[in-house]
Amino acid sequence: MKLFCIGRNYAAHAQELNNPLPDDPVIFMKPPTALLKGGKPFYYPDFSEEVHFECELVIRICRNGKHIQEKFARKYYDRYTLGIDFTARDLQRKLKEKGLPWETAKGFDSAAAIGSEWVELQQNDDIQQVTFSLNKNGTTVQQGDASLMLYKVNYLISYLSRYFTLQQGDLIYTGTPAGVGPVAVGDVLEGYVGTTKLLHCEVK
Ligand code: ZN
Repeated sequence: MKLFCIGRNYAAHAQELNNPLPDDPVIFMKPPTALLKGGKPFYYPDFSEEVHFECELVIRICRNGKHIQEKFARKYYDRYTLGIDFTARDLQRKLKEKGLPWETAKGFDSAAAIGSEWVELQQNDDIQQVTFSLNKNGTTVQQGDASLMLYKVNYLISYLSRYFTLQQGDLIYTGTPAGVGPVAVGDVLEGYVGTTKLLHCEVK
């Protein structure tokens, strides 16, 4: 099972981190051991003093495919939830300055929280119409609107499948909207689509 993540997929978030808008999707991966599921707590790692939350729409691949055309991409995902792309921002900053890969800042154990509830997509549902939000300790800190993605889900599937065989069960974290920020021990993160809570994660 692969965890794909898309960087800088919302203009307002790229701006808040002073990153230029990408000419192509920014792709990185997390290992399966990064997955934090079942509403389990996130234990603050000892190698960072600045772990950020990034709440993202996550889609699940439902069939294997390679070289998928954008117009057929919809057949390759069947459900979505919300996830947190936990990022050791201090570590990432250092790695970026040196032009090095981000793996330790993004791929560490439990760095990919995933909602316990999934939403099944019906045939005519449009993933790009989904809006979502993240609450930290009861206050809304991020609001996402999938229609604002720079690269839409069907395009991302087509793009990814040029390089990687997509397999049933793979997940795609589709990028974070603006509003990312630090977490601290004791924080409670809750992800919502509309009024439906899909994700709950405590920081310990
Ligand atoms: Zn992210």
